[in-house]
Amino acid sequence: MRAFVIGNAAIDETISVDGLPEPGVSILGRIASRDLGGKGTNQAVVMARGGLETTLVSATGDDFRADTIRNQLAEEPLDARLSRLSGISTDFSMVLNTPDGENSIVTTTEAAEALPLDVAMKVLGEAKPGDFLVMQGNLSAENTETLLKTGRERGMVTAFNPSPLRPYFERLWPFIDIVFLNESESLSLAGATGQKAAETLHGFGIRQVVLTAGTKGAMLSTAGGAFVHVPAVKAKAIDTTGAGDTFMGAALASAALRGGMLDERAISHASAASALTVARRGTRRAFPSRDELAVIFAG
Ligand code: ATP
Repeated sequence: MRAFVIGNAAIDETISVDGLPEPGVSILGRIASRDLGGKGTNQAVVMARGGLETTLVSATGDDFRADTIRNQLAEEPLDARLSRLSGISTDFSMVLNTPDGENSIVTTTEAAEALPLDVAMKVLGEAKPGDFLVMQGNLSAENTETLLKTGRERGMVTAFNPSPLRPYFERLWPFIDIVFLNESESLSLAGATGQKAAETLHGFGIRQVVLTAGTKGAMLSTAGGAFVHVPAVKAKAIDTTGAGDTFMGAALASAALRGGMLDERAISHASAASALTVARRGTRRAFPSRDELAVIFAG
């Protein structure tokens, strides 16, 4: 089984601040890290480090950030297909990190929105039935819908992370098998959290719903099947950037490597993996290593 992640690649600039700025107020901060990020890239890196054959399809502009992204991806065990687009700025995220480990993030999506559809469609031509197609909310509405629809037509298992929130997500539900949401996404898209949210999302035709709730842990709900809660693994959180992406990547890799859909074990593996991420600063550099994931997946 193979995973195809079609999503964004960005540089995360993390700035430590004492507190988040009020509107109209200037505050002081200090650069805490500069790292490869972007939700699509994060999820692909974790899946690949987990040992799943992973292809990342993404776009950058034609600038210094694009070089950094290309060089850092070359260090990962994944097949990166990057379109370098002229006249476009490479995407980046401004992460404001407070002393209690909370983050506020602003992300640009110019390059992600300009990802050429024909390039992504060509790569999807390599997919086989049962392969995973993994997507998030950074691409254009048209590309996201077309690619998920195509993945479904090819018999792929489609997994979607509706972040950042966009008004067009409702149109996508018919093409999604698995969805991963945090609490605020759950409230916005399903009007509830927990089992009630899962039932609403199953009503849209989604087979498996994963709801993450930070330190309160995560839930997996399977249509017509079980609803399980898995507690978070205790960690000393210093930077939660990429916790949700680590969770999603690790859960999908764990399930795919064992040949199927998500189960309680995959959610436990994801909880252990994301507890490592929150205890370290940065994005890619905070993710569990190949060795750490091998130990987690053996449990
Ligand atoms: P982010 O946007 O920070 O990447 P998210 O909002 O998408 O994260 P969360 O629900 O906050 O997602 O976290 C995802 C998972 O990461 C949780 O279900 C939990 O397993 C783990 N996690 C998050 N924060 C902590 C923490 N402080 N300690 C231990 N585990 C955590």
